[in-house]
This record gives sequence, structure tokens and C-alpha cells, in this order.
Amino acid sequence: MNKLLLHICCANCATVPIELLQGQFDLTLFWYNPNIQSSEEYEKRLAEVRKLVAIYKVDLLEESYENEKWQEVVKGKENEKEGGERCQICFKMRLEKTAQIAQRCDIPYFATSLTVGPSKNAVKINQIGMELAQKYDLNFFEADFKKNDGFKRSLELSKEYNFYRQNYCGCVYSKK
Ligand code: SF4
Repeated sequence: MNKLLLHICCANCATVPIELLQGQFDLTLFWYNPNIQSSEEYEKRLAEVRKLVAIYKVDLLEESYENEKWQEVVKGKENEKEGGERCQICFKMRLEKTAQIAQRCDIPYFATSLTVGPSKNAVKINQIGMELAQKYDLNFFEADFKKNDGFKRSLELSKEYNFYRQNYCGCVYSKK
């Protein structure tokens, strides 16, 4: 079975891609979300991810927080609307780290749970993934996980497992 590194944005969104990919790939989860404001919120979401890992019995790689680096990267785009240029930069930063770790660990495929979110543009996310796949000589698993009732299923599963559900995307600007 081919190995796949799945970038996960939170426990809730991770449920559906795990269900879909677990039988097809040798899955490892990857936590890299330097966008999250604040460090308390970051720890809260990560604690839920550790619960998820125990439920689905998958491996997890955790990258460090790097929030200052994230702030630097989105500088000048603070006032962009959600879904705009700041989000494209944010997606790229998280997916690029995923591709780098996949390459370093000899994992030929990578994917992301980001498209579970109803407001997340799968076309743009897949485009970023495909460009990075080319750059790092990897394969990106293109998907729109919210489709076919994927988002609805993520709600059901997060309720079943009693995961904490945040009410903002992650960064300080999405909190406003
Ligand atoms: S709204 Fe979400 S995707 Fe957009 S920049 Fe903020 S954390 Fe990233």
C-alpha cells in the first residue's frame, strides 16, 4: 500500500479524509497549523487531534507552532476577506511544509483535510497542492472532501466523538 501524508487542520475536518483514505493508503497524519491564534487555542485543537489519533489508530507527526513566521508570511494581507489572497498564502505555507516532510520521510503522496470546510475553495487548494507536487516530485491526492455529504459526515463524527468545534477558521483576522 502506498504511503500518504495527510495534513490535518483540526480533528473535526480530519475525520472524513481518514475514513476515505485509510483503506487505500498507509496513512500518517501531519499537524502543521501556525495560523492558529492563540497558543491556548492551538493547544486545545491539538489535544483533540491526539484524541482522534487514538480513535483511528493512525500515526501522527507534529510540527512546531511557528506563528511568528506565519505572521511574517501574510504581512500586508491582514485586511483581505476570508477566502482571499491571505488564505491562499496560508494554504500554501501549510501544504508546502507537508510536501517537504513527505519528501524527507520518503512518503510519495500527500493530501489535506482543508477542503472539508464549506467555505474552503477546493479548486484553489488542489491547484496549490498540484503545483507543490510538481516542485517536490510527489503526488498530491486531489479531493473536495466536503462533497458527497462529507461536511455533514464530519459534523456527525465530531458529535459522536465529542470533539471541540471552534467557531472561527484559525487566524486572528478570521476571529473578527
Ligand atoms: S481565514 Fe483561515 S485559511 Fe484564511 S488566513 Fe486565516 S487561518 Fe488561514
